[in-house]
Amino acid sequence: MRKTTAPAKPLARSRAQARGACLCGAVEIEIDMPAFWAWHDHSRSTQRAQGCAYATYIGCWKSRVRVVKGARRIARFEVPGTRAIRSFCARCGTPLFYERARARAMINIPRALFDGRTGREPLYHIAIEETPEWAWRNERLVPLKGYPGVMWTRGRRKARAIADPFGD
Ligand SMILES: [Zn+2]
Repeated sequence: MRKTTAPAKPLARSRAQARGACLCGAVEIEIDMPAFWAWHDHSRSTQRAQGCAYATYIGCWKSRVRVVKGARRIARFEVPGTRAIRSFCARCGTPLFYERARARAMINIPRALFDGRTGREPLYHIAIEETPEWAWRNERLVPLKGYPGVMWTRGRRKARAIADPFGD
């Protein structure tokens, strides 16, 4: 087998696509694989827009993203101050796109919209210092007695109680 150290050639138009959809199914999107990159976004803006401690995105060149169904259902919101544009399904509210003012050629899509592979692992973290105090930090989980399917972080509660017995 011949080995080469030459840099990989830029990919020709990808043959593989990944499909994603919002919760209600009104909007379907498609990307050419692989996505350009993927990361976990812990910023306060993303926490609020997506209603979670952090969101995982894939970033794609806009030219490699298509709305295959429901374009008319997509609502856009320009975030005051940053001029970022966040789009979502006007029917079910699912966040769809996150476009940053400094990188208009790229479009960021919540990873969770895709059931299958997108060709990138999320190896990066942005704004991790904005992680909220209530986020799960991979503490050990144990089953909650009497509530099948519910796990909890018994250890964390105990530690907090010792550190601040009068805290809330
Ligand atoms: Zn929807």
